[in-house]
Amino acid sequence: MDIFLTNTLGRKKSKFIPIKPGLVGIYTCGPTVYHFAHIGNLRSFVFADVLKRMFLFNDYKVNHVMNITDVGHLTSDADEGEDKLEKGAAREGKTVWEVADFYTKAFLADSDKIKIITPTTISKATDHIKEMINMIKEIEKNGYTYISEGNVYFDTSKLPDYGKLTGIKQNEDESRSRVEKDPHKKNQSDFVLWFTRHKHGNHAMIWDSPWGEGFPGWHIECSAMSAKYLGNKFDIHTGGADLAHIHHTNEIAQCEGAFNHDSVNYWLHSEFLVMGENKMSKSTGEFLMLQSLIDKGYSPIDFRYFLLGTHYRKKISFSFDALDSAKNAMEKLRNKILELRREEVSEEIDHIEESELEKIEEELDEESEYEFYIDQFREQINDDLNTPQALATLWEVVNDDELDPITKRELLEKFDEVLGLDIKSMREETIPTEIIILKKERDLARKNKDWKKSDELRDAILAKGYKVLDDKDKSEVRKI
Ligand code: AMP
Ligand code: ZN
Repeated sequence: MDIFLTNTLGRKKSKFIPIKPGLVGIYTCGPTVYHFAHIGNLRSFVFADVLKRMFLFNDYKVNHVMNITDVGHLTSDADEGEDKLEKGAAREGKTVWEVADFYTKAFLADSDKIKIITPTTISKATDHIKEMINMIKEIEKNGYTYISEGNVYFDTSKLPDYGKLTGIKQNEDESRSRVEKDPHKKNQSDFVLWFTRHKHGNHAMIWDSPWGEGFPGWHIECSAMSAKYLGNKFDIHTGGADLAHIHHTNEIAQCEGAFNHDSVNYWLHSEFLVMGENKMSKSTGEFLMLQSLIDKGYSPIDFRYFLLGTHYRKKISFSFDALDSAKNAMEKLRNKILELRREEVSEEIDHIEESELEKIEEELDEESEYEFYIDQFREQINDDLNTPQALATLWEVVNDDELDPITKRELLEKFDEVLGLDIKSMREETIPTEIIILKKERDLARKNKDWKKSDELRDAILAKGYKVLDDKDKSEVRKI
């Protein structure tokens, strides 16, 4: 079945054609590790994860590369402002290296919790300074650079279609004209490839280079690392929507400067997560982290479910009410899965009575139902990752009374290869003996109509993290 994706370059949805059949190379702009990732950042990584899972679902081999920006970059996109890592180090009284290391680990731990499949390669910018220098040398050799006040600039006027990604014309960009004009640039859209001098001097991270000791500009790391791990022509590049305008526009310029052609076939961007009027942002310091949600009693998967409810190309508005709905949906799904596992056992017993012919007929029926739903689901996720519709299909299956419990569970587990809601691990908890004893005492109290004692025991069970569900003449305990 064909796959359709919306390419920011050209702004249209088109059929995906891989460079090599059955294989897809994806590069994802990773986190800048001077602070915890906020839940907006995580949206961009969950999007890349769903994209990759969609390809795996379609039997592609996926080579997924993500960088870690551990070189300090300036707080604004336009080569202005302070160095982000140095700012983090000053805030925390640590070295820039310690800050980067700490937040890289924190990011990978969050990614794990939210069921992001670890990329094939995670590449740190600081491990690739040599590759960046070599690429700048190529760009220089091809005549796209100039040196001004010790810094190496990319001359954007040399590329007639500079800005084609988001349709900006050179020097006609409003957002750029608002930033302080750099008197050392020939054109305002020019950008630094290598800094040897910067107004905030005293950089802790400094490397030797043909242009003098200094540090790379922000954009070169992604061009150098994507070329190293995916080649100078690869399938897909992802990032948050804010990266298209400057970072990715400049990546295109660098690759055209070095290789004389653009290196990416499909540019995919996920929209922002917003809270009220505001885009969540690390640099303003006002943001929620995954841990903030966990501390309030939500699971990382509740948040993942919340994200899947909105198409990646639409803004998603975060609120605790919306997260509550996701949590309720996850609770419902979990209960349904546990119920299916219980039903499966009695179903198997029923089948023992059936004749061989009945069994074969039933299996064929189930197979065609299974294929029907798989096709429907595939069509939805292959259509530019329509996760809201894919979730609707999941609920359609949950509520389809014609499906037998085994087929139903198998379908949900298959969908989960893309959705990543961790359905396989939804299993009955083993209840500790201590709780079983308390429950037995309570059952006895109920039988004797000793309501006071029964309530006390229910509270004691609750205090230990289990809730009692009473149903006419029987009761059950579940972990909260
Ligand atoms: P950073 O760690 O700042 O380099 O950002 C990592 C990723 O998060 C990038 O792809 C950004 O485009 C993306 N991003 C930043 N803020 C948001 C937001 N509020 N909503 C969604 N994605 C975001
Ligand atoms: Zn990048």
